[in-house]
Amino acid sequence: MSPATGAVASAAPGEESPAGTVLLGRYELGGLLGRGASAKVYLARDLLTGESVAIKSFPNPRASGGAEEGRRPAAIEREAAILRRLRHRHVVRLHEILATRKKVHFVLDLAAGGELFSLVDASGRMTEDLARHYFRQLISAVRYCHARGVFHRDIKPENLLLDEAGALKVADFGLGAVADGGNLRHTLCGTPAYVAPEILSRKGYDPAKVDIWSCGVVLFVLAAGYLPFNDASLVNMYRKIYAGKFRCPSWFSPALRDLLRRVLHPNPDARIDADGIVAHPWFCDGASDEELARLMVGGHEEAWFKPEFKEDMAREMTAFDILSFSPGSDLSALFGAGPGKERVFVSEPAADVLSRVEAAGRKEGYRVRREGKRGTGPVYLEEESGGIVAKVSVFKLADAVCVVEVVKGDGAEAALFWTERLQPAVKPPVLS
Ligand code: ADP
Ligand code: MG
Repeated sequence: MSPATGAVASAAPGEESPAGTVLLGRYELGGLLGRGASAKVYLARDLLTGESVAIKSFPNPRASGGAEEGRRPAAIEREAAILRRLRHRHVVRLHEILATRKKVHFVLDLAAGGELFSLVDASGRMTEDLARHYFRQLISAVRYCHARGVFHRDIKPENLLLDEAGALKVADFGLGAVADGGNLRHTLCGTPAYVAPEILSRKGYDPAKVDIWSCGVVLFVLAAGYLPFNDASLVNMYRKIYAGKFRCPSWFSPALRDLLRRVLHPNPDARIDADGIVAHPWFCDGASDEELARLMVGGHEEAWFKPEFKEDMAREMTAFDILSFSPGSDLSALFGAGPGKERVFVSEPAADVLSRVEAAGRKEGYRVRREGKRGTGPVYLEEESGGIVAKVSVFKLADAVCVVEVVKGDGAEAALFWTERLQPAVKPPVLS
């Protein structure tokens, strides 16, 4: 509940504080803003722009010893893939990803206003009007995410933050999921009091309905000051959730009660969806049509989104390339470099890769031409006629990690050369 820019939590005894550290020459770390199960979040200053940002740091799963304590690389990759896919005024935005040998850092919008729950009064609640104000922003964000095939799956107070202007920012997509063609999910996730009943039955669930349920619990808590389903015993709490029985406090308006009955409906098929919520009288009460329309469209952000988000990812060479460099996780598909271009992650010096590329070219009778002074290419492989068959460059990402970028020439011959000769030369198959 700390207001993010003011009081920052101090490091636990015996823990080294990174305050003052400058990451990759650009971000100066400040105090600890919060910590979650897998990461620590620090206040930081972008030395280039002077802007304050939040940096979520994970132990690099590739670092020795990190794998046991930290999050699996696939989980960090998934969170980043999700964040990159979202740009909405009520979702914390990912600026970039940095990696050092020991850590992976997400540079995020700073939610300088702290947690939404810092706004409750002494009795632990807020007025119905204020709850409605934030619930609208929450539904706006959730609806946006769902429309893009992203499901949060851990909507709860700790993950609902405020920016310096007091606007809601949904954070922490660490348990998020991306649509995979309508399959029901079986992963048990979320936080007990906010978890939908169908998750408890483990029969598979629609993640959109699960998010809607959690939004309902949040709304109830904001306006009531206590949880709708609660019990000292977890088993009893689950029973109450499963039965979907809750009682609204006397001060709830009839319209709010009606909405909550629809949102906290134990049968997901009968539960209201985001569009239904938006059309509900309690949700619309007091808002002008333009206001509602703006909230629901997400303003200019809408136009920004492109389904080809994978291409965006391919353009940035960051921590992922380092994470992906492991026999167990091949992110090449995620980074799919697009028509005519290939990217391959390797762990060898550029010189070794390029000399194999040159040898493969010569063997095929191509002219080999190397440019650049740093030994990283590009190397051009050309036909007698001057047509380019391939251009190969190496980008160094970290001590032992490079990305080899291959721009293929046009035509069947160049394509065949890539699959038959060049690809094996760039990354020889691992013999197990
Ligand atoms: P985890 O995935 O480990 O739960 P979170 O992303 O939820 O990590 O971050 C942990 C805590 O750090 C949050 O509950 C919040 O207090 C703080 N925090 C996270 N992101 C930001 C941010 N962008 N700005 C300010 N504080 C943040
Ligand atoms: Mg969290």
